[in-house]
Amino acid sequence: MEVDNKGKRYIYSDTELDRAEGEAIEALKAHSQQPIPDPDKWLDEEVRRNILLTTVDWALNWARRSSLWTVLCFPACCAFELMATAASRFDIARFGMEVMRASPRQADLMITAGTLTWKMAPQVRRIYDQMAEPKWVIAMGACAISGGIFADSYAVVPGYNRIVPVDVYVPGCPPRPEALLHGIKMLQEKIAKRSLLKEVK
Ligand code: SF4
Repeated sequence: MEVDNKGKRYIYSDTELDRAEGEAIEALKAHSQQPIPDPDKWLDEEVRRNILLTTVDWALNWARRSSLWTVLCFPACCAFELMATAASRFDIARFGMEVMRASPRQADLMITAGTLTWKMAPQVRRIYDQMAEPKWVIAMGACAISGGIFADSYAVVPGYNRIVPVDVYVPGCPPRPEALLHGIKMLQEKIAKRSLLKEVK
């Protein structure tokens, strides 16, 4: 004597027993077409904790903005504020910028700290041309932006942007280190918006 689970009826023959068993298996098959999800969700959490998803643009821009190397090109008095920015109190090493290079080929940032005369202009342009790509320029101080108090002089270039393309302007005569740091942060934001796709077009 056997009992059918569904109908609670007594089954006496082997044929009926086989049929009842077959029906039960078919019913289980019909309800088992999809895998049962793991209620703990441990795998999702593990993936979220251990995989960092980002773009090539973000990684490249992060590396570039976090390791700006400045070329030595400080023609006048703003240079002292730049030196103060690099020294321990303000410490541009925090931005990965402590490496100042005497060779333009090892630098990607020009901070134009000082008055530029026409006599020096070709050398500044040559230094810029020899810098590694991509490269940026921060015009530091009134003289670098517009010639400053010497703007009317026959000998002074009325702004570095006559000679090289300038990315960020930091006003002041001279600007304090905090102002230069703010300019560096602005340049970093500008670099963060670069796209590799636009560069290769
Ligand atoms: S902006 Fe002022 S401090 Fe800077 S180089 Fe010109 S005169 Fe000197």
